Order: sequence, then structure tokens, then C-alpha cells
Amino acid sequence: MGAQHETLAFQAEVKQLLHLMIHSLYSNKEIFLRELISNASDACDKLRFEALHDGALLADDPDLRIRVAYDKAARTITVSDNGVGMSREEVVANLGTIARSGTREFFAKLSGDQAKDANLIGQFGVGFYSGFIVARKITVLTRRAGSEAAVRWESAGEGEFSIDAAEKPGRGTDVILELREGEDDLLSTWRLKSIITKYSDHITLPIVMRKEEWDKDKNEYVTKDEDETVNQATALWTRSKNDISEEQYHEFYKHVSHDFEAPLAYTHNRVEGRQEYIQLLYVPARAPFDLYDRERKHGIKLYVRRVFIMDDAEQLMPQYLRFVKGVIDSNDLPLNVSREILQESRDVKAIREGCTKRVLSLLEDLAGGDEEAQKEKYAKFWKEFGRVLKEGVGEDFTNKERIAKLLRFATTRADTDEETVSLADYVGRMKEGQDKIYYVTAETFLAAKNSPHLEVFRKKGIEVLLLSDRVDEWMVSHLTEFDGKALVSVAKGDLDLGKLEDETEKKERESAEGEAKDLVEKIRKALDARVKDVRVTHRLTDSPACLVADEHDMSGNLARLLKAAGQKAPESKPILEINPRHPLVTRLKYEEAKFDDWSHLLFDQALLAEGGQLEDPAGFVKRMNEMLLAMTLAGK
Ligand code: ADP
Ligand code: MG
Repeated sequence: MGAQHETLAFQAEVKQLLHLMIHSLYSNKEIFLRELISNASDACDKLRFEALHDGALLADDPDLRIRVAYDKAARTITVSDNGVGMSREEVVANLGTIARSGTREFFAKLSGDQAKDANLIGQFGVGFYSGFIVARKITVLTRRAGSEAAVRWESAGEGEFSIDAAEKPGRGTDVILELREGEDDLLSTWRLKSIITKYSDHITLPIVMRKEEWDKDKNEYVTKDEDETVNQATALWTRSKNDISEEQYHEFYKHVSHDFEAPLAYTHNRVEGRQEYIQLLYVPARAPFDLYDRERKHGIKLYVRRVFIMDDAEQLMPQYLRFVKGVIDSNDLPLNVSREILQESRDVKAIREGCTKRVLSLLEDLAGGDEEAQKEKYAKFWKEFGRVLKEGVGEDFTNKERIAKLLRFATTRADTDEETVSLADYVGRMKEGQDKIYYVTAETFLAAKNSPHLEVFRKKGIEVLLLSDRVDEWMVSHLTEFDGKALVSVAKGDLDLGKLEDETEKKERESAEGEAKDLVEKIRKALDARVKDVRVTHRLTDSPACLVADEHDMSGNLARLLKAAGQKAPESKPILEINPRHPLVTRLKYEEAKFDDWSHLLFDQALLAEGGQLEDPAGFVKRMNEMLLAMTLAGK
């Protein structure tokens, strides 16, 4: 047992959150009620779940409900639930700290610009502390189900809070808000009711308020000694689609996802067959700050026959769709299903497959839509979650084709880094005689766009996909073809342009190769330690040289990415390709004394051009200066 009375400081991030919350969310102040009701509902869900194993927890007070009350004289609003409640330790942990990994990094990103930060805060989830938008003091009186002891938590939302032992007749939690000056308009049945129907109508439990009736004699409303339920109090997902408004879908989303913004799209279905379940799945409008955090919570809540079983049911959605939020309510799973069972169950696998297909169809609908609004939505989706979806190409063999169709790329056809081209678009406008899909990978969009490897493709007007996401190298290693056309890196292997090269070009290349034979041999000798081979290029038109990886070697870009991530990359030497038509290369033919130096220069600049790092930068600069000097003197 802890001390009777304690005053504790909030975690630094909580202080920051409180400050921001009060200042930037004021124009949205009503949401505090949604958040408190949402917590009350979660607390009841948790209790119902615990009671599956220990029926006594629920027995003395079996009807779960949430109550909203106000006291005009005391200027308070109270939100009560008879849910699971909190122990002293839980109160300290839950209402004094933010237990989410990445929180500190998240707060470090806040700019101090309130309008901008308000958006970020929304993404982070506003939660309990939003009460301080309207309250100058909050008291939480709570008693854990199964325990006799109650706790009182109090805070003015500044630096600290106090904790005391207390008495409370039944289990559950009362959150009492003492309103700030000027918030008295909230002290009205009508006002509170309308906030509840707007934001919390979808809550599964009854939300009750004291009934009010017009008293003709007194000529005013009087409060009766009787409750009335002010929301629909049915599980939203069990209702028929036609009976649910867009707004109700959105509010429900905010409840399950703890998001502040409306979702981008959703799908709601009753699935029948071997497994019977309801799925209500949402795609958020914005990626959460911790999308790449391995520890982060997933967004699916699992219910079994309306009973909440667990949050964060990651088995129900593949990794690459981890951004999806929502509810799955199964008719068939046992109520005592645990995470371990979920992992192995074939029924769960069937549900996951069904849900994956649904989400992919939802995305296909957006992607394939003719309407501007849909296109815009898909573009937005792609910007937020495209990189995650790309993981699916390697992760989900069954749906690989469908995922491939959903991918979008930047290409040499446009000047911007916007990723708008699908593989189908690309294939649809392939040149006559072209039978491959070409791509280049680099660390940045600019490096990809200006890669020397693209020169011949530019000249021939062949479109090339520009890949600069980290995940792209991995993706193309799994996506070797689309629609029967191989995906080929322009910086790998012996570029075979096939029919894209005409007879005269072929002849010209062969003669150039013949003429440059001795030169190639000499350079090969000079660079023996650095290259696997030297050969005449047919990729280049303007640059003197470029590096390529051998067909089955790792690309230079991937090797650099791995090294940057602290992983081992196999040491494979690149191939140097030279452009025999380039004046620097022709000039090399007549060089004697400095031949080796100049060969190294060719190699080094090719390495730089593809984003590589020089092993000996000072040596490079020295050679470069010598060459410049030699040229200036020669020019005199
Ligand atoms: P979130 O709901 O996203 O977890 P909140 O800030 O809304 O974050 O709430 C923080 C935590 O406080 C909850 O996760 C829960 O553990 C606890 N909590 C808040 N309200 C209640 C309540 N009425 N009953 C029990 N626990 C609660
Ligand atoms: Mg909450």
C-alpha cells in the first residue's frame, strides 16, 4: 500500500501536453466529454472481459452504464462509470504519465506553433487530459473492481497532482470537473445531451442523465428523480449500414482509434460462411507518428459476440496493413480466447485473410475511382501509407498482384517527386518493342532523377521508375515482374535494350567497342583493385562513365543502405562502364604519365554521381586539381 497522501509531479511530457491541449484545442472544447465517455466505456469493456474469468466482479452491480451529471451551484460536471476502476498504482501510472514508446521524440518535434501542433496533438490522442480545457480542477474518485479501497486523485492541471485514500460505495470511477470561469453554458441538460448525441451516440453502453421535465406551474425545467438514456446504446457495428450516418461512423472511428481527425475511408460488412463475423475497418487520414515503431499498438479491437476481448489484436491484420483501425466482432471464437490462441487459430487466420481482402478492395475502390474526390483520397492515402503498403509485396504472397496494382511511383515522365504512376499506367504506355519495366534506385529523389544511368532512356524517350524510398530496394527484390514484364534496374547487369536498339545503333556500338578495346584493357589494369570489370557502355550519352552492379550482385544503393543501417553488406566490386564518345575518355587514349590517375578520376566521379562515398576524398581532389591544371596549361 502506498502512502495515504502524496503529491506527485507529472511526467515532463504530460506537462507539455496539458499546456498545448488547453491552448490549442479550445475551439474544440466539447471533445472533453467524448474523451471522458470513451474512457468510461473502455473501463466497462475491461470489466466485462475480466468478469468472464471472475464472475464475482460483476455480480453485485451487473448493469454497466455511464452517467453524466452536473451541479449548477457547485459548477461541476461529473462523468461516472461502474467499470473496472483503478488501483492507486494504476491511477499514478495512467493519470500521471504517458506510457507510449516514442513519446519523448514526439514532443521534441512540436514546433510551438499552436495551429500546427494542435493537429499533431490530435494524432497523438487527446484523452483524459482534455478535461483541463474546460476544468480548472479535476477530481477522480475511483475504486478498482474486486477491491474495497478507493483513491482520490486531484489536480489543477499544472505541474502536479495529489493522491489520497478515499471511500466510494461501489466500484468504478467518477471524474469530476470543476469548470473554469466562463464555461457555465455547459451546465445544462440540453447542452450536454446534444454533445453526447453528437460525439458519443455510438457508445455501446447506455449513457444516462437525470430526466428533466417542463414544469408548467414553475415555468421552468425541473429535474426528476429518474434516469433516461440519451444515446442509442447499441453496438454501432451490429446496426445496419442504412441506419448509420457518415458522422456516426466518423465519431465511432475517433473512439476506437483515439484519433482526432475523421478517417479517410471505411468498410463495414457482415461476413457469413465458415466464420461469421462483423468487420468495421477504417483507413486513417494521417499516419501516426509511431507507424514505424515496432512496439506500437495496432488498431484492431476484437469482440466476441459483442463482448470486448482485446485491443491491439495484431493477429487480425497483416503487418503491412498495421495502420488499419476498427472492430472485428466474431460469432464463433471462444470468449476465453487469448493472444496465444489467436496466434495459432485457423479461424483467426481465416478472419485475417478476409479482412485483408476487404481492405485491399477498399483501397482498390479509391485507387480506381473516376471521381476527383476518390483520386485525391487515394493520393492522400499513398502519401501517408504507401511505404507501408510496399512491405506487402514481400510479405503477402497471396495478394502480391493486387498490392502491385496499388503501388504508385515517381517516374522520368514528370519533373516532380510525386508518386502518381501505377505499373498499369507504365505498361500501358511502353514503347513499341519494349518488354521490360525499367527502374532506378537511389537514396534521394534527386539522385534517382539525375542518375547517369538514365541517359540512354531519356534519349529514347523510355519511361523509368524513380525509386528512392528505403523500402524500395527490398520491394523490387520481391517484385520481379508485373503483367508478364520483368522489372529491371537500369544500373544492373548487361543492359539489353533488345528491340529498343535499332540495327545502326547496334553496329555503331559494336564498332565503338572494337575501337576502345585496348583502352578498356588499360583502364582495367589501372583499376584492378576497385572494379570487377571495365566495359563500353550503351547506357550513357552525356556522361563519361558510370558504375553498374553485376547481374546477381547487390546494387550500390542497397549496399550503402545496409551499411548505414549498421548491417553487413557483401563486398562486391562494381563494373565501370565508359562512354568512348565522351571527350574525356577519348583524351585518355593519348595519356601516358597520368593514365592511372585519370582512370581513378573516372571511377571516383562515377561513384559520386550515384551517391557513393569516396574512400580517399583528398586523393580525388588532388587528382582533380592536377587534371584541371593540366587542361588550363594546355589551353594557354
Ligand atoms: P487512452 O484512453 O488513449 O488510453 P486517456 O488519456 O484517455 O488515454 O486515458 C489514460 C488511461 O487512464 C486509460 O488508458 C485508462 O487506463 C485510465 N483511465 C482513464 N479513465 C478511466 C476510467 N474512467 N476508468 C478506468 N480507467 C481510466
Ligand atoms: Mg481515452
